[in-house]
Parts: sequence; C-alpha cells; structure tokens
Amino acid sequence: MGSCTNHHEYKYGITPIYEPSSYIESVEENRDNQLVELDSILSNVVLDIRYATANNFTESIIYTEGPGAFVRLPVAHQLVEIEDSLEKHGLGIVVFDAYRPYSATVKFYEVYGDTNYVASPYSGSRHNRGCAVDLSLYKLADGRYLNMPTDYDDFSIAAHPSTPLEDSLVSANRDLLIQVMEHYGFTVYPSEWWHFDYTGWEEYKIMDLSFPSIREQNPKLKS
Ligand SMILES: [Zn+2]
Repeated sequence: MGSCTNHHEYKYGITPIYEPSSYIESVEENRDNQLVELDSILSNVVLDIRYATANNFTESIIYTEGPGAFVRLPVAHQLVEIEDSLEKHGLGIVVFDAYRPYSATVKFYEVYGDTNYVASPYSGSRHNRGCAVDLSLYKLADGRYLNMPTDYDDFSIAAHPSTPLEDSLVSANRDLLIQVMEHYGFTVYPSEWWHFDYTGWEEYKIMDLSFPSIREQNPKLKS
C-alpha cells in the first residue's frame, strides 16, 4: 500500500472509486453513499481494528494510515438501532473491521490466496463497498468481550455460524449477535460468525479511498 499507491494499475479487472472527487460526486448524487465514521455516530462502540495492528492473520499492519471504522450512511443508521437495542441487555458493539479499502483486499489475496476466507480481488469484498461489518459484543459494565466460538479471523469450522457448540453460553452469545443483526437487515457470512453484510450492498460501488482521505472529504459535503 504505502502513501503513494499506483491507483491506475489495478490488475484484477476492477477499477474502484479512488479519486476523492468521484467520492464527493457519488455522495452528491445519493446521500446514502456517504461513508460515516462509526465512533462519530455510535455512543459506546469499541474499536478493535485488528488490521491496524499486527494482531491479524497476515501478522502485519495493513491499515497504516489513520485507521477507523466507516460504513455507508444507511448501514450506520441500522447500527445505531442495533446499539440501542443491545444497550437494553447491558451490551455494546466491538468492531474489528468495517469499510476496507480495495487495496487491502488485494493485499489479503496476495498473502493468503484462498478465496474461501479472503475476498477475490476479481469481485472485491462487501467491506470495499462500506456494507460489511465484522463485530462482536462486550459488556457495558466492565468492558469484557462476550465469549464467542473463536477469535476473529479464525479460519476453522468452529467459526461457521451453523456449527453446533457444546458450550451453551457461547452458543447463546453467538446466536444473540446473529439475531440482533438479522433483525436489522444484515446477513451473517456462512463461515464467519463475526461478518455481517448489509442487505442492499449491491447498490454500492467498490472504493479505494484511504481512511484519512475520507475524513478529509466528508466536511466538504453539502448538508
Ligand atoms: Zn468481514
């Protein structure tokens, strides 16, 4: 990645939105295209952005420039509802990843290669569209994460949401997360209990703007 990516040399047949001006135009056409920073709209979200650390399957820092958690406007609105609903159970949302620049998807593919677990750069990821979120739950009272079947990005059968679990508490935690997300219009990924796609993701384009670039552009949007 680096600070000077060769944006014009996309080699997998996809040309994402990478010009800040194209992003601005898309939002002026349709407000829903805005990428909203989650900690600006959610009141008790915990950001545990693993790709901003070496604590991820690549064992290297992928998000080197001012990482954050962004989603499209309607996705953000649904997450506000979800946060309100969870608060009644004394729970909050932990976000591991949300919008992911397309260049990061290319890097994952080039490192890992298995498209069962990383998105194909030929089709891109729903994360690239600002329509997927990787998340878990924590207790508002003490900040502890709820026990879930596996750690984030565990590429095993145990991470599949359909895998029966012996521990009924872990099973209940997983099912609660899935139920609340599905109730508000998300679909869980069949091999990752933490990954949820927003219904209607097809309407949104693949993007390759950096986090700092989005932060720089958003204030320029007419309200
Ligand atoms: Zn994901």
